[in-house]
Amino acid sequence: MFQRILIANRGEIALRIIRACRELGIETVAVFSEADRGAHYLSLADEAYCIGPPPATDSYLAVNRIISAAEVGNVQAIHPGYGFLAENAEFAEMCRACNIEFIGPPHEAMAKLGDKVTARQIAQEAQVPVVPGSDGVITDPKEALRIAEEIGYPVLIKATAGGGGKGMRVARNEMALKSGLQAAALEAEKAFKNPGVYLEKYVERPRHIEVQIIADTHGNVVHLWERDCTMQRKHQKLIEEAPATNLPRKVREEICAAAVRLAKAAGYTNAGTVEFIVDRDFNFYFIEVNARIQVEHPVTEMITGVDLIQQQIRVAAGEPLPFKQKDITTHGHAIEIRINAEDPDHGFRGSPGTITKLRLPGGPGVRLDTHVYEGYTVPPYYDSMVGKLIIHRPTREQALACTRRALDEFVVDGIKTTIPLARRLLDLDAFIDGEIDTTYLEREILGHQH
Ligand code: ADP
Ligand code: ADP
Ligand code: MG
Repeated sequence: MFQRILIANRGEIALRIIRACRELGIETVAVFSEADRGAHYLSLADEAYCIGPPPATDSYLAVNRIISAAEVGNVQAIHPGYGFLAENAEFAEMCRACNIEFIGPPHEAMAKLGDKVTARQIAQEAQVPVVPGSDGVITDPKEALRIAEEIGYPVLIKATAGGGGKGMRVARNEMALKSGLQAAALEAEKAFKNPGVYLEKYVERPRHIEVQIIADTHGNVVHLWERDCTMQRKHQKLIEEAPATNLPRKVREEICAAAVRLAKAAGYTNAGTVEFIVDRDFNFYFIEVNARIQVEHPVTEMITGVDLIQQQIRVAAGEPLPFKQKDITTHGHAIEIRINAEDPDHGFRGSPGTITKLRLPGGPGVRLDTHVYEGYTVPPYYDSMVGKLIIHRPTREQALACTRRALDEFVVDGIKTTIPLARRLLDLDAFIDGEIDTTYLEREILGHQH
């Protein structure tokens, strides 16, 4: 087992990884930008190094600085968390070339899956259904028009290197497709340094269901069942649950088996998530793999009892999985609410600033993963997520009630957050009945056209 790990991240996930390491008896080296100098969790790490100025490109994304910190800190492994360098295959390769284990999949598997077009091909070879669409990157607009004609409008233009809900646009007719292709390629080049786009049928009003998998380096691949992340805004998740509501047992088993087939076909190890959209008739279609730990991993931890971060570290150290598929049973229902420092009344603009008052929820069924405290200043430079409220109760109905009362207890003053919006969503019949789709929030609550 490793004696010392560097955490190449910040915020709640850095804290989450420090906690996992502590329980495993592993020392931690944290890194921070000048904007995070005062972060309390840094004192929970055994060592902490400043790696640069606030902009992420000069700190959390500065590969050389992180590798230097790892060498000075004398660590055997790096945990990348999510975001930042977590899905950067070159970084993973560089770590291993420096004899530092990267806690994640093999860089070859990551590179293949990080490209959505290649991931689709691997899925198809593994008999995993994909959304009807183009066979590869679009090289000729005429070809795109022909494919769209064949699969039928609306279609979705997607960046093959896309992520974080960005790099997607819907085209409802030929005109929109023609103009959209160029704009999408330019956007993709700018955002992801890769202009490649492809087409998928735009599935109307789907649910988002994803499967957590974990694989060791001895050939064992196990799934930890599914999560429902249908409550989204701009293709970004707001609320996640496990297990998914109203999902027939047979579909649930098939979708999880499909995820395992795909992981095996890609030569995947460590933790990962296979994402699907599911239509009204429970047809499911692969959309992408997130080759890393995800924000919403705690809901799976709650219902399965598996500590996913500890398990990631163990697998990276070469240990075999301590369980088989049949050992993974689920208990109760878990809900996660993402708390973002954003102002829903003003277009969800970021709301950095100082937290002047903080009252945290607690009691039975409540887990709170956050790095913030009263007096903490949310910096303007990074992702707006400031914490996650995770609820675990024996039934979904009880979990919903517990989430409502925990949100009622939760007070964050000084900045705007998504807490009041989340509280409203918890009272919606469509959500309570498990009948929403991925565009529900924008269409029915925020009043956008869909
Ligand atoms: P999850 O499914 O774990 O929620 P997200 O796609 O929301 O995954 O990504 C997790 C974090 O990484 C978020 O903070 C998100 O903003 C960021 N992120 C992921 N991919 C990208 C990307 N390609 N560009 C910018 N940020 C990204
Ligand atoms: P990202 O890498 O940004 O997470 P995904 O491919 O996972 O991109 O898609 C993000 C979200 O966009 C999905 O959860 C879903 O809401 C929507 N989406 C993606 N593909 C389709 C599609 N073909 N039809 C309808 N919605 C889609
Ligand atoms: Mg996704």
